[in-house]
Amino acid sequence: MEAAVVTVGNELLVGDTVNTNATWLCGRLDERGVRVRRVTVVPDEISEIARVVNEYNAEYDAVIVTGGLGPTHDDVTMEAVAAAFGRDVVANEEAAAWLAEHGYSAEELTERTTHLPAGCRPLPNEVGVAPGAVVETTYVLPGVPAEMKAMFEGVAEEFSGAPTYTRTVEAAEPESALLDRFTKLQERFDVTVGSYPGDGVRVKLTAGSEEEAERAAAWLTERVESPDSSKTR
Ligand code: ATP
Ligand code: MG
Repeated sequence: MEAAVVTVGNELLVGDTVNTNATWLCGRLDERGVRVRRVTVVPDEISEIARVVNEYNAEYDAVIVTGGLGPTHDDVTMEAVAAAFGRDVVANEEAAAWLAEHGYSAEELTERTTHLPAGCRPLPNEVGVAPGAVVETTYVLPGVPAEMKAMFEGVAEEFSGAPTYTRTVEAAEPESALLDRFTKLQERFDVTVGSYPGDGVRVKLTAGSEEEAERAAAWLTERVESPDSSKTR
């Protein structure tokens, strides 16, 4: 399964808020074997949100959109997602009933709170108020991290893919010096090689089986200078 994550919010684009939702979602999706192919940040604008949702819906098996669900004027995500699917935003009885059962009176809620894309599956918000929604394979979740996480966990089982296995090898060599071994690794093993320079290079090997990841890691470990050995030089 391949997925895209769309995070909505002007605050993300001006650097006021760190996009922890994207990082958290990528981690959870990866754990479930889902390949995340895009993470996009868009402003709170209907046309911008609708454009990427429309594109990603056509391209990927699932799209997760977070942020901009509240009842205020700047929260336009539901309208945008509805527009992306050519649907109207309409009062959702199931979402209203859920909120009523959980002690919210209709007067307390702004009218827009339970207005969702027509024909969607509403997702209850166990932590906050604004419901989420599923339209085809696009999942719309709140922006508040605690609400987003709880709502994602409610649908997590709908996201799955072939699990991957990773092994990490630390190399006390410049990244450029490792290129020949990266090429050989990819020739010999069915692995994806991630190279993360910092203090030395952290090489992340990802494979479809634990044995393959292990074999590739063992091969590389024998052929790089380990951080420990470099210290003794
Ligand atoms: P509300 O109903 O409170 O308006 P919402 O679903 O509309 O919730 P936003 O208005 O987009 O969500 O964001 C609410 C808060 O959640 C923001 O103040 C921001 O701090 C946080 N937030 C939003 N998006 C993200 C994100 N991608 N990563 C981390 N925090 C975020
Ligand atoms: Mg908001």
